Amino acid sequence: MKKAFPSLFAVALALIVAGCGDSKTPANNASSEAAARTKVVENASVNATTGNATINATNAAASNTTAGNAVGANSAVATHSAEATAPAGTKTVTLANGASVTWIQDNEGKKLMPRELFSDASDSLYASLNMPAGIPASVSTFLVKVDGKLILFDAGLGAWGGQLAKRLEALNVNPDSIGLVYLTHFHADHIAGLVKNGTAGKMEKVFKNAAVYAGKVEYDAWMNKIPKNDLQKNIMALYKDSLHLFAFGDSLPHGVLAMDAVGHTPGHTAFQISNLLVIGDLMHGYALQKNHPEINSNYDMDKAKSAESRKRIMQYARENKLLMAGMHLPPPGFAE
Ligand SMILES: [Zn+2]
Repeated sequence: MKKAFPSLFAVALALIVAGCGDSKTPANNASSEAAARTKVVENASVNATTGNATINATNAAASNTTAGNAVGANSAVATHSAEATAPAGTKTVTLANGASVTWIQDNEGKKLMPRELFSDASDSLYASLNMPAGIPASVSTFLVKVDGKLILFDAGLGAWGGQLAKRLEALNVNPDSIGLVYLTHFHADHIAGLVKNGTAGKMEKVFKNAAVYAGKVEYDAWMNKIPKNDLQKNIMALYKDSLHLFAFGDSLPHGVLAMDAVGHTPGHTAFQISNLLVIGDLMHGYALQKNHPEINSNYDMDKAKSAESRKRIMQYARENKLLMAGMHLPPPGFAE
């Protein structure tokens, strides 16, 4: 663990950062996150496997020959042969429009979501997965290179063990070159990576040239209604001059469409760009929820809406043959 931020920021971070911290029960989340962390195993082979034989963002242009076929997830995820091995914890895929998307694993080592996180699942259903240690997952962010611009979807854990800065460096991406950040929601494991501990313990921007796009519903909920929101308020205040609030259905820069994925949080958003659908926290236990979208995780703040969104968006992805990119999907972060 890196050194914690001092003062209020540290307290807020410690309370709120909890995987997908449901702000209503930060202590419980912190303990389940801690339980998950006890299972963390440093395993270089995971990274070696997931990062195998893919291109990285800096040489994406060379792989555009596959763009026209990158509709079905199988072809989209197909590897790109003789290019240099991708940095650990990353995998790059070419999209139908010629853009590239790079999965960036933000958590260190392995991540398993514990059975206790899925109260909706019966013991017999859970047992049928044969995953007694927990469901494979990750904390992930995604970097899209389109129109010569770099766009980040969510910013990860930041001071809470986030690997994003290290991974970007390995990809030869300077944080100053990130032009936009799209946020799926405001839980700390998605926004804490926007900030770092600067000089004199002052919170500083990590992406100082980025416009930050967030849902207006999400923003309003965290600024006004949700308790224990110090981290959210501090980060949004820091980025206030570059903050853009959108509504669901808005068409955003670089052809990004913001979609209602409400339930996990009040303004939880999915984003479509070309044949990629960034699903945020629609699923925390992919192996369980891919066939049982009616099952929520206990992090989902409104379970009825969360289940409705999960069913609707998974069906939309299937019907349109979209490649899903999820912030808690198991490595390498993509699913059909
Ligand atoms: Zn999350």
